[in-house]
Amino acid sequence: MKFIDIAKISVKAGDGGDGHISFRKEKFVPKGGPDGGDGGNGGNVILQAYPHVNTLIDFKYKRSFFAENGVHGGKSRKYGRYGKDLIIKVPVGTIVKHSLTEEVICDLEEAGQEFIIAKGGSGGWGNARFTTATNQTPRNANPGLPGEEFELILELKLLADVGLVGFPNAGKSTLISVISAAKPKIADYPFTTLVPNLGVVDMGEYQSFVVADIPGLIEGAAEGKGLGHQFLRHVERTSVLVFLMDINVSDPEEEYRTLAAEIEKYNPEMAFKKRIICLSKSDTVSDDDKQEALNTYFKDLKAPVFVISAVAHENIDKLKSKIWEMVRG
Ligand code: GDP
Ligand code: MG
Repeated sequence: MKFIDIAKISVKAGDGGDGHISFRKEKFVPKGGPDGGDGGNGGNVILQAYPHVNTLIDFKYKRSFFAENGVHGGKSRKYGRYGKDLIIKVPVGTIVKHSLTEEVICDLEEAGQEFIIAKGGSGGWGNARFTTATNQTPRNANPGLPGEEFELILELKLLADVGLVGFPNAGKSTLISVISAAKPKIADYPFTTLVPNLGVVDMGEYQSFVVADIPGLIEGAAEGKGLGHQFLRHVERTSVLVFLMDINVSDPEEEYRTLAAEIEKYNPEMAFKKRIICLSKSDTVSDDDKQEALNTYFKDLKAPVFVISAVAHENIDKLKSKIWEMVRG
């Protein structure tokens, strides 16, 4: 599963139509007055937040967008028709930036929200408008103005419901592959997975939630030291965080606190998200060891604690149900 969350597109609003130069031709009027009509305005390019798409993949195939030009003015003061607006549907949560400056232009957070990203050019005045007391036969008209034109970067923070947080090798990719349709690459050394893996977990009857595996989180990630930093933003909008610690580490609770401190440093809002704690790879320890871990660690935390094995499928269904319950509630 490849997830594209950044797209570069170009948009161009319609040019305004030119004003027209013409004179009335009337039987008994030797020199008819000016009657050139105005050009129509060019169409705008409008971004609209659309709730039924959740990736930017469409923009991989279509990158250039043009709104319609305004029509030129005509004889007999005929106005040129306005160019039609072009509406580009983007996923809810899309952030739009200038491609050069990376300045944020808008953040389309709510379904249906619209933003005029490129304004159509105004139509030019026809010569009829230029009649003055001293100039009854103006031979000038304005050209239409060009529509605005931009290169944009669309950015979509993953709208994952659940973020998996853990040090390299904790078993995040394996867990996600077991609970979802995603097939992330798994290897024995850190930093193998450079893109966040997304998994859609099917809860039956058209119900599902999205899990994002945040790879490569290491201490110092919030300062950009690790690979984790560029991925942390992918979990900003999740509602539940699942912390994954290998049950074999010497102090999983300390590891949990390190991870929690790390993501809170990146974004203090993370402190308010619901949490689930998982001790992974339970198939590698004895039942006594599992019990001892449960008796020793995480006593003061309110978060539910699971001892799981993705490989042996231990407590995986219980974990899924708990996540789903917390995602909905
Ligand atoms: P990530 O870096 O957190 O994504 O960790 P991975 O999912 O890549 O797992 C790291 C290593 O731990 C891999 O060799 C996995 O095969 C192994 N692993 C993951 N989950 C389990 C588990 O439940 N039991 C056992 N025995 N090994 C596991
Ligand atoms: Mg991984």
